Amino acid sequence: MGAPAAVFLDRDGTIIVDRHYLGDPAGVELLPRAGEAVARLNAAGHPTFLVTNQSGIGRGYFTEPQYAAVHARLEALLAEHGGRLDGEYHCAEGPHPQGFGCRKPGIAMYERAAAEHGLPLAGAWFVGDRLRDVIPAERVDGHAVLVRSPESEWEEAEAISFIRVVPTLWDAVDVILAPPGGHRDD
Ligand SMILES: [Mg+2]
Repeated sequence: MGAPAAVFLDRDGTIIVDRHYLGDPAGVELLPRAGEAVARLNAAGHPTFLVTNQSGIGRGYFTEPQYAAVHARLEALLAEHGGRLDGEYHCAEGPHPQGFGCRKPGIAMYERAAAEHGLPLAGAWFVGDRLRDVIPAERVDGHAVLVRSPESEWEEAEAISFIRVVPTLWDAVDVILAPPGGHRDD
């Protein structure tokens, strides 16, 4: 066994309630047991990163400082539950006419995290409530866990063999921390 694999967490609809283009720290609300779930990853030694598309910045709906204030509030709420992020990556760009730029499902943010922290992407865990959060796992030989949310494409995800679908982030952490071989059939 090598070191515990990196875990990449989406933000909206995965860790916090999806408020759509959230630029106000007062709107940050952890989903049930999300802080405790992150704390479990920390305790198990998994380097844990936030990776989030934030096109609201590029669209002019809120600013980088507002995003930073929202993120600071998120970190404070996580800390109340013993949870900590080892890094934060966000893409401020709007959708591109071609390609993804830094946006998920592109892998630019993951590659940056891997390079900055000296971690392999192979074997990493990709957790989020949208297909774009978990599809990148296939490209880098990682693991994909989709968390259901009001907007998640879970029915589509269940039809894709390499994606596990679970109700909440807490359940995703159950999958990540399960003994090797105990939960996988590949
Ligand atoms: Mg999301």
